[in-house]
Amino acid sequence: MEVLSKSKIIALLSDEKNEQQLWQQADKVRQENVGDEIHLRGLIEFSNICRNNCLYCGIRKGNRFALRYRMSEEELILTVKKASQMGFKTVVLQSGEDLYYDQARFCRIIEAIKKFDIAVTLSIGERTYEEYKSFREAGADRYLMRIETTDKDLYHKLDPNMSWQHRYECLLMIKELGYELGSGIMVGLPEQSIESIAEDLLFLREIGVDMAGIGPFIPHPQTPLAKEQGGTLALSLRTMAVMRLLMPDINIPATTAMESLHPEGRIQALQAGANVVMPNVNSSEYMKLYELYPNKPIEGFSQSDIAKKIENIGRTIGKGYGSHKHKE
Ligand code: SAM
Repeated sequence: MEVLSKSKIIALLSDEKNEQQLWQQADKVRQENVGDEIHLRGLIEFSNICRNNCLYCGIRKGNRFALRYRMSEEELILTVKKASQMGFKTVVLQSGEDLYYDQARFCRIIEAIKKFDIAVTLSIGERTYEEYKSFREAGADRYLMRIETTDKDLYHKLDPNMSWQHRYECLLMIKELGYELGSGIMVGLPEQSIESIAEDLLFLREIGVDMAGIGPFIPHPQTPLAKEQGGTLALSLRTMAVMRLLMPDINIPATTAMESLHPEGRIQALQAGANVVMPNVNSSEYMKLYELYPNKPIEGFSQSDIAKKIENIGRTIGKGYGSHKHKE
């Protein structure tokens, strides 16, 4: 398939007038390449303790108003068991960068939860090669870590004491170790240009992601970026749709942040190129405390509610693990 040029991507991202056509085209490409199944992943946010201080993030270390929590090993395993009993074939274990979960503890957790016959995605940030390797050997299948932006100057402004190059190298290690690789970006960061978003999309294609998560940046009131404007749902949907055109057979989630901007945000995303939903399986108490951005939907997962919404748009819930199936 012909790769879209950077100038064509910029034109598509900028074209508000014809966005409906773009969304329809992405929906068609999605249908032809990954079909009508929507894969559900049970999202478990197991700790909001973080050693980093990303300017945009509500659980940044410097937010002294955030009430911190951390599930115990047993609680986390029980939560995965619950997710498996609800019918999930994949769980996503996400947290701040919380080193309490060291290599040994995390390997124990992964080994315990693999007994539930479930695909395991980790989203716990930057670790050493040795840790990534041991998590993979313990049974982790996928890893999700957004590059956030490929504008290195912007990255270093927004993620103090972090290195873009190091994050990139982590993504390469993860891929080399045979994980399915998920990455992605935020749309609408301060000073982020459309050209930079186009470069982000080409970067995700270049590193060969199996999953691309694209969501709007939503300013959190207890962060240094509280007064920024944030991203719009429309530009986020256009970005996601172009991602689908660039990588027709990958998994693309309808992100929770889209739902925070509009009650039907995720359904719109599913009709503009997305094929994955990650319902939160935590208790509402934990959901509230894992506040990356405001207005996050705090709702218990109900298989019947989501099934109905999915059915209403003519789609079905996938019954398998929902891995990336390469078409080329
Ligand atoms: N610590 C892990 C990591 O670094 O990948 C996973 C947790 S991190 C909080 C998950 C993602 O939340 C980030 O990659 C970022 O894209 C997103 N995020 C954080 N703050 C946000 C905000 N204010 N608006 C939208 N997304 C946000």
